[in-house]
Amino acid sequence: MQIDIMTLFPDAIDAMLGQSILGRAQEKGLIRITAHQIRDYTTNKQKQVDDAPYGGGMGMVMNADPLYRTWHSIISAAGQQIHTIYLSPQGKVFNQTHAKRLLNDYDRLILVCGHYEGIDERFIEECVDEEISIGDFVLTGGEIPAMAVADAVCRMVPGVLSDEECFTEESHFSGTLEYPHYTRPYEWHGRKVPDVLLSGHHANIISWRRKQSLLRTKEKRPDMFEKLELSKKDLKLLDE
Ligand code: SAM
Repeated sequence: MQIDIMTLFPDAIDAMLGQSILGRAQEKGLIRITAHQIRDYTTNKQKQVDDAPYGGGMGMVMNADPLYRTWHSIISAAGQQIHTIYLSPQGKVFNQTHAKRLLNDYDRLILVCGHYEGIDERFIEECVDEEISIGDFVLTGGEIPAMAVADAVCRMVPGVLSDEECFTEESHFSGTLEYPHYTRPYEWHGRKVPDVLLSGHHANIISWRRKQSLLRTKEKRPDMFEKLELSKKDLKLLDE
């Protein structure tokens, strides 16, 4: 998976996505995340990327042209069309299903980060394939949303995590929340680790984890629980 992020703050992207698991995955060549400075594609001396909105009103709007030039240089260098996403509070709200879809449908993505009041609508009309929001709230810029999308997609690229189970068992992958985790020490502040996890009985541990996963989904996210198709085994576990 290759992700090109169009931004006014490439250093922030590199600092964050060049670390830890995604940093190592980039070193191994499993993924590539490149941040492109939109300001480098301006044609004015001041490298200004925004202007006052037509019709008046508060704030500034990012000009279409530097955005287009950045986008075009990525497309030209790639020699192919690339699915382009504008991170916007007006987009479809992102979730694990979207992350899986992006991973399965595309091997390369462009993520466009807006700032100020947003970006000139004509760039969206001409270059953007879809708009994605990370929730019904407004941030100052698209960098955090772009990093969230890039992280969610890239961590599912084969080899990025040590095992597929690392994400297939996790919250949201199959419509449930994950079971609770414990590590050493066995007792902490008077709280002990559930005995079953020390039993070494693999089947019992699996059943316990499944039950915990169902119970906490029911408690914390009844909306998700309602949509689950519970097996006979699940119903039995919940009944015990
Ligand atoms: N004026 C815009 C509106 O009301 O729809 C909001 C602009 S916001 C202050 C500036 C930039 O932050 C946007 O262009 C977008 O890239 C990003 N942004 C803010 N909130 C976001 C969200 N919830 N999801 C994705 N991107 C967001």
